[in-house]
Amino acid sequence: MYDYLIAGAGLAGSVFARVMTDCGRKCLVLDRRGHVGGNIYSEIVEGIEVHKYGPHIFHTDNEEVWKFLNRFSSFNHFIYSPIANYKGELYNLPFNMNTFHSLWGCVTPEEAMGKIAGQKQASGIIEPGNLEEQAVMLVGRDIYEKLIKGYTEKQWGRPCRELPAYIIRRLPVRFTFDNNYFNHPYQGIPTEGYTKMIEKMLDGIEVRLDIDYLDHKSEYENTAKKIIYTGAIDEYFDYCFGELEYRSLRFETEILDIDNYQGAAGVNYTDKETPYTRIIEHKHFHFGKGNAEKTVITREYPASWKKGDEPYYPVNDKKNIKLYERYKKESMKNPRVIFAGRMGTYQYYDMDKVIASALELADTEKRVRI
Ligand code: UDP
Repeated sequence: MYDYLIAGAGLAGSVFARVMTDCGRKCLVLDRRGHVGGNIYSEIVEGIEVHKYGPHIFHTDNEEVWKFLNRFSSFNHFIYSPIANYKGELYNLPFNMNTFHSLWGCVTPEEAMGKIAGQKQASGIIEPGNLEEQAVMLVGRDIYEKLIKGYTEKQWGRPCRELPAYIIRRLPVRFTFDNNYFNHPYQGIPTEGYTKMIEKMLDGIEVRLDIDYLDHKSEYENTAKKIIYTGAIDEYFDYCFGELEYRSLRFETEILDIDNYQGAAGVNYTDKETPYTRIIEHKHFHFGKGNAEKTVITREYPASWKKGDEPYYPVNDKKNIKLYERYKKESMKNPRVIFAGRMGTYQYYDMDKVIASALELADTEKRVRI
């Protein structure tokens, strides 16, 4: 008999299992995949760490999260500075003085601000009601057309006018010459890779792989006092209120007999014609180390999601949020099962937020007698 059965050995499940184990609770972790780590799982290919489910760059401003992770891994000093390729024109991301200079020839912040203010005023938008309006308000129409529209519509499979504004607020806009994609004080890649970090986190904890909790529910649900479910919440309830929408991804990975393909970890293809959104060249997450003769690249193709596919991004528009609320209400009826993680709570969470909420959940659980 376990105290907690944790369905999902991804970040949320692994963090929760670690904290609860450390305070003396007995945990069993199951995962439907043949490996731990969920979507942060990486593999060493030709001496290079390859992010199997899309690039993961750890960054946070949460001291507690940073300290917690550093128990399991050191981090290198990688700073994500992706490039946007719009029909062969290259721009720095996120939107900053380098971008404004390449696009408009602006030399001072004042000029760049003036340019954006002019485009914003011409649009007549006062209160952004969707992603397109939010983008134009933040960076003007030129940047929206070249660097946002195509990429976003490919990624989400719907017009920017039908997407929530908050998605684009994830990206910083700066009037300094600073290409760091993130604003957080802590950033880096686990020195020995993500998989080693998760393995260390799960050290001494019973993990069973290749077991889908939902397929083995009757066998497992009474083996623990409580269940932490980190899979998709609608799947747990057998889609009884209908399917939540997700976006999925397809990855095409190639090993090339050259040292350096694109000179950056990430190049975003922001036009609408190129079928993939970005190319990741994995070795650059570790400053090119690993193999001087070869490189591994991955093209990332956004895909619509249907039952049975891997869900990657929740589509947090009004319709889906409403549906999620119904599932959430349903989940409250049984306090023995707790939903966690990006899929269990239908949130577009970064890794640090997943960890923070798993730590919070563990903190609450520590206080209750089981
Ligand atoms: N985005 C964009 N152009 C880019 C990169 C991002 O318009 O070159 C927009 C797009 O709408 C995307 C959002 O910014 O969904 C958030 O991007 P982020 O890089 O945070 O996405 P993730 O890392 O989660 O895939």
